[in-house]
Amino acid sequence: MNSVSIRSAWLASIAFLLLATLGVTGAQVPPEGADVEAPFVCPEPDEPPPPPANEAERQERERRARYRALFPLYVAAVGPEVDNRLPIPVDGVRASEIADTWGAPRGGGRRHEGQDLFAPTGTPIRSATPGFVWRIGERTLGGKTVTVIGGGGRRYYYAHLSDYGDIREGQAVTTDTVIGFVGNTGNARTTPPHLHFGVYESREDACSWDALDPYPLFVNR
Ligand SMILES: [Zn+2]
Repeated sequence: MNSVSIRSAWLASIAFLLLATLGVTGAQVPPEGADVEAPFVCPEPDEPPPPPANEAERQERERRARYRALFPLYVAAVGPEVDNRLPIPVDGVRASEIADTWGAPRGGGRRHEGQDLFAPTGTPIRSATPGFVWRIGERTLGGKTVTVIGGGGRRYYYAHLSDYGDIREGQAVTTDTVIGFVGNTGNARTTPPHLHFGVYESREDACSWDALDPYPLFVNR
């Protein structure tokens, strides 16, 4: 190793420590204020995956494993009752204005697993349910995203945000909490600004999910 690569390795480890301290690498914290015990443990995959191709993939897998380990605590904290009415999460949008695009074809052979709520950039987005902030972070398709876990362990996924609200992972939210602002980050960068709203329902083992159409559950605030 020459002195330049030693120095850059040193700088990289300092940067990593700094990010870890600030929580930027993903907090993966238990739900705040909920004194609960994990009711189950999420199973490991049947087949061990091939070794990670690089350091970034290794870190991403570790991060996912930490989320998976904490998930049962969130399920215990939110309780078993699912939300059967979802107040529309984008300020000013009425149920009658939402075009139902559930299942519409999307690029790469995908289907639209959610609903799009169009509004100007910067319009506040409020949680459609009470629950706990599960994950805040950038994704390739979703851009800036927030995931909230609500009753019954349902995941509520808010994507393409221009910015996040003043929230942290593990925080309890209500239907008044601003979790972010409408934008067009991720694969929405060439579309008008909108919130992509996805709902994922726990399967039997509670640790894997199926997309659920939120359209019939929307109610005006
Ligand atoms: Zn969408």
